[in-house]
Amino acid sequence: MPVKKEYSNDDLTIVWKPEKCIHSGVCVKTLPDVYDPKARPWISIGNATTDELIKQVDQCPSGALSYYMNPQSADRDTGRELQEDPEGKMYFFDINGLRPRIEYIRAGDRIFLTHTEVPPELEGKGIGSDLIRKTLEDVGLKGLTLIPLCPFVASYIKRHPEWKKLVLKGVNIK
Ligand code: SF4
Repeated sequence: MPVKKEYSNDDLTIVWKPEKCIHSGVCVKTLPDVYDPKARPWISIGNATTDELIKQVDQCPSGALSYYMNPQSADRDTGRELQEDPEGKMYFFDINGLRPRIEYIRAGDRIFLTHTEVPPELEGKGIGSDLIRKTLEDVGLKGLTLIPLCPFVASYIKRHPEWKKLVLKGVNIK
């Protein structure tokens, strides 16, 4: 049976089929922080955004690289309860004592989402996307205007443009 290897982040899984790879190095040139033939594993999927990964996979000339979106990244309620720590200025989940979190700064009716962090033990389970989605729901319920400084939040909004309604006018989502 042909060998294939899979590498996942919260949103998608990259599939690499070595027998199809013609070693043109397009992947290494495009995203050197992700594709490093000397490293093990040679794909560090956490070193690029989902959008960057998808763009790159589309450029693989041989079809050795492909991807699929993870089922858990679909918009559905996972039952995880979003909590807020106003003093620590963060939203978080408590998962067996581990705390994936989104840090923020409030200024009047504006909220800056500054940083998202998921403990390594919890990566690849769609938790980051779930946390961002529930945070955006709360921001919307509170009627706050959002400035998404965190690249993970910005990338999530780019993939789910229905949330652009929360974003401060004039802020460009890259
Ligand atoms: S771009 Fe595709 S064919 Fe080229 S080295 Fe990377 S995986 Fe192999």
